[in-house]
Amino acid sequence: MLETLVDDVYSVLDDGIESLNEEALDLFLADMKEVLKKQLLQENREREPNAIRLSNMGKPCTRSLWYKHRGVEGEQLKPWTRLKFLYGDIIEQLLIYLIRESGHDVTDEQKVVELSDVKGSIDCKVDGIVCDIKSASTYSFKKFKDGTLHRDDPFGYVRQLSAYARAERQTNPCFIALDKQHGHIAVLPIEVEENVDRNVEYVKQEILQPVAPDRPFADIPDGKSGNMKLDTVCSYCEFKKLCWPNLRTFIYSKGPEFLVHVEVEPKVPEARDDKTG
Ligand code: SF4
Repeated sequence: MLETLVDDVYSVLDDGIESLNEEALDLFLADMKEVLKKQLLQENREREPNAIRLSNMGKPCTRSLWYKHRGVEGEQLKPWTRLKFLYGDIIEQLLIYLIRESGHDVTDEQKVVELSDVKGSIDCKVDGIVCDIKSASTYSFKKFKDGTLHRDDPFGYVRQLSAYARAERQTNPCFIALDKQHGHIAVLPIEVEENVDRNVEYVKQEILQPVAPDRPFADIPDGKSGNMKLDTVCSYCEFKKLCWPNLRTFIYSKGPEFLVHVEVEPKVPEARDDKTG
């Protein structure tokens, strides 16, 4: 039962185990190999036009999907961003291993599912329930723990998991999240969103239309300075320089800030050579 999952995994860590579950270990090592291949092999990085996938169904911007579908070149990922993705994937596999060690049944890892002729791969099922495994910052983890994700879901995780669950004819899939800073775990069951099928049709239509969809996000005020900055979704997007041609990047201690309009010059360095961010 998923209700006991968090305590069960903590018990493995608290009490220790008499011997390693060899089958779980073999699966973990095989999964790790796939993670390394996915993130490091050059052949997996070639920029090909992206197929329409269920993983895109939660994406908040169909314009970025339109660019991707046509193989438009966005920003290259920085090495530290690639490293972040790599250890995020490793953490997720570690969590799946621990779930297995704790006695829960993990099946259907990366099973290909289909909804309205669009394919996708689920992370896995735990005890028969479609689950999305997330490694999260402490800030994001709070939304899984408190159950507030559906109110603040800038990257569309709920819609994406809804599509996977619908494809498997389930109504109550779960997120299993791990706070990568503090090691806490949370299970968040959700109800499948209404209109999942209609949304898939909408996204397909947007991606296949001949002109790029409009930008769905506006720039937002940066405090009271009069400066205008990108909102969160655009600031993470690889196409931000295409969408916002006069963008300037300033390096604050908390991270880069992307300004669309500068009224008052920030008193922090401006990124000129793309070496930071
Ligand atoms: S920069 Fe913003 S509007 Fe442009 S494609 Fe990316 S998310 Fe969409």
